[in-house]
Amino acid sequence: MKKIFLLPLISSLLLFNCTPKETLDETFQKINSEVLANSKAYATLGEATSTIGHRLTGSENGAKAEEYTYDLLKSYGLDVKYFPFEVETWMRGDVEVQIGNLNKRNYEVYSAVSLAHSPVSADVDLEIVDMGNGLEADYAAKPGAVEGKIALVYIGILPGSPEGTSNLHRSEKTALATDNGAKGIIIINQVDGGVLLTGTASVTGGLIDIPAVCIGKEDGLALKEILKKSKKRAKITMTNTSDQIKARNVIATIKGSELSDEKIIVGGHLDSWDLATGAIDNGIGSFAVLDMARTFKALNLKPKRTIEFIMFMGEEQGLLGSRAYVDAALKDGSIDNIKYVMNQDMSGNPRGFNAGGQKGADGFFDKVGEHIKAIDSVAFTNQNSNSAGLHSDHQSFMIQGVPYTSPNSNLDRSIYGCYHSDCDDFDLVNEEHIRNNVRFSSMMLYALADTDTLPARKLNDAETKAFLEGNGLKLKLKIGGDWRWED
Ligand SMILES: [Zn+2]
Repeated sequence: MKKIFLLPLISSLLLFNCTPKETLDETFQKINSEVLANSKAYATLGEATSTIGHRLTGSENGAKAEEYTYDLLKSYGLDVKYFPFEVETWMRGDVEVQIGNLNKRNYEVYSAVSLAHSPVSADVDLEIVDMGNGLEADYAAKPGAVEGKIALVYIGILPGSPEGTSNLHRSEKTALATDNGAKGIIIINQVDGGVLLTGTASVTGGLIDIPAVCIGKEDGLALKEILKKSKKRAKITMTNTSDQIKARNVIATIKGSELSDEKIIVGGHLDSWDLATGAIDNGIGSFAVLDMARTFKALNLKPKRTIEFIMFMGEEQGLLGSRAYVDAALKDGSIDNIKYVMNQDMSGNPRGFNAGGQKGADGFFDKVGEHIKAIDSVAFTNQNSNSAGLHSDHQSFMIQGVPYTSPNSNLDRSIYGCYHSDCDDFDLVNEEHIRNNVRFSSMMLYALADTDTLPARKLNDAETKAFLEGNGLKLKLKIGGDWRWED
């Protein structure tokens, strides 16, 4: 009896083992069809932006966004958890910028927004000094000019500046103004149409000493003309808060079928600034990640390695959510299990991938990219790169030696004018572009999670240091307080 019973079982096991595993091309075809037919990225982002609004970390809206994505991932049938963290962070209050004559008459109100990490309260009424681009050379040319006054600087490089002038980040321009004795800084945006920009003015993520505001390009350039003829003063008043806030990363997990201890992370920051709904930064990236999770679940894809789909919060205030995640992984030793990170920030319509800067890592992306290109050679041209950069959530992992990748986006130039601005809304989102990202990034994610040999490995401490130096990131990381080494 037993033998008779076992025989069919054994033969079916043999048969099962002999069945060749689905090829990469077959899996990619499935992903492609699923996303083209059923992608929810565009629709859910539309719903979230209209029902929640912005997704500022620590705000009521931010909490609603965390819950929305948690519920959404659950509704797809995924294992979901919150990763709560608590940090001190800055929140915008009121701001008013008035500009008038030195005799304090005829003040005119200018449209302005506070830059993040401005003081919790400020009330200055001082002369304005035009400091051009606000670079070291501008201060060297006018020593002491801004001492006790308000610096007016352009966020970009003004036309007519010396050839090859390289720009500094708004936070670095603010630090320079402060070092030169300014008591306030007005930064002129470079986008047409009175667009206002926010973002941090702090190099460290801590509060800065002077109020920093952004005004529109047209207002700012007109003001520069006025200052050529007469002296003006600015009255800047603002209140902000800097409090301990609570936020939650949202994590959905698909357990690996063979190497379940090894993790591939795909993440995008869910949070946004509060001037608009942040549909581009980073609605398109984070909602693509949500739809990638949906796709994997819908197709019941089970690659060798475990995948974590993560909505990071707090990116805009200084990569807070990814830092908290990495800190926890360092503490419990699981950092070594994180084999690769795919970051999705303002990404869409990719034509290739960035291999993240480790020597030789691009070979894998070129190879897998050929299979993606075979699916859609019009949208995906397999144009890959291999460099390391900063200022998004992959940074928290990269400085610990974890390799990363991100899509090489091919989006309409026009959307970048609304970066960190009051016009970053859903009307900028292109449905096909977000869907293309879900298609191609899901394919690359699957390849990473299922490959026998990953394109790069986690670097040890000395290798990480050399890697960051080799990619020219040391000085920037030092300014940002993220350089972990003595020298
Ligand atoms: Zn972003």
